[in-house]
Amino acid sequence: MPWSEILGHDQNVTRFRQSVTLGRLASTFLFVGPNGVGKRTFAIELARALLCDRNDDALLEACGHCQACQQVAASTHPDVIHVSRPADKSVIPVELLIGDRDHRMSEGLCHDIALKPYSGRYKIAIIDDVDCLNQEGANCLLKTLEEPPPRSLLILVGTSEQRQLPTIRSRSQIVRFGALSQPQVEQLLMRQQAVESDATAAEIAALANGSIARALLYADPEMMTFRQEWSRELVDFRKTPPHYARVVGDFVDQAGKDASLRRARMKHVFEISAEFYQRCMVSLCGQQAPGGDALQQLIEQMSGRWTGGAEVAAACLERCLEAIEQVDANANQATLLECWIDDLQQLLLRQNALSS
Ligand SMILES: [Zn+2]
Repeated sequence: MPWSEILGHDQNVTRFRQSVTLGRLASTFLFVGPNGVGKRTFAIELARALLCDRNDDALLEACGHCQACQQVAASTHPDVIHVSRPADKSVIPVELLIGDRDHRMSEGLCHDIALKPYSGRYKIAIIDDVDCLNQEGANCLLKTLEEPPPRSLLILVGTSEQRQLPTIRSRSQIVRFGALSQPQVEQLLMRQQAVESDATAAEIAALANGSIARALLYADPEMMTFRQEWSRELVDFRKTPPHYARVVGDFVDQAGKDASLRRARMKHVFEISAEFYQRCMVSLCGQQAPGGDALQQLIEQMSGRWTGGAEVAAACLERCLEAIEQVDANANQATLLECWIDDLQQLLLRQNALSS
């Protein structure tokens, strides 16, 4: 996709174009910003623009048609290395960085990026999920970061600077990506033909918090239905824990056997809940939340009989955010869910947040 189709990050395009034109492109970049705003897409477009066969790299504009452009888009270009956290792991395994025990330093990213570029131009590695890089993984990268091979480019994609180890942070140029605006999310939904009408695009974009990934999730009507059902459950969270475990379990089971899809659904339950308590908190503070959607109506109904104060809503929100991190850390899902329901009910009941 050309730069014109990547919305919201024009400043970053300009910045890279200037560096390339001046011949001052750094060798390691750390892309940070919320999930689902297009950081990885940006990294891939940058790789295409640098490797395009037809256009000079100083233009930083991929033609989109040559073999190199197509190979980068299809993740088959010999000069582009992709590394990400496997679905069943909580960290990026060192094997992906330095090879397995039998092939230490003769395989993996650190070895491959030091090879001469096949195209004669750049060797580019994109490490996704860099929030999941542990100390051991970071140590493996250290030599590559300190003495980057000529014509090499390492792009680390994470969510925040604070989540990175100091050794990585201090050796990278930070590139920040902000959340998308609501009209940008709408535009992307329409362009990707994820929704049928402008009205649906607007409705979904309003719920997406500036994340196209989240918007695409809600473009699936099943997800929207679950969001509504689960929000109604949260309004009166006093049924027995097995009831909630069953509702969430059914939703997760619908994803099939794929571990990463199941995890994404579990995480989504916590995200919906986090949003719910965040909006409760705003409402309890007497502030008007934007939008008059169905969730807002539920929240206003509930605020009327909520006696716990905004701090209880804040504690619930915090517990949801913690659960999101635990899903990312690959905690056992059944246990995680059980503890989360229990903690939430304790918080709500102890403070008598919901009067009868
Ligand atoms: Zn091209």
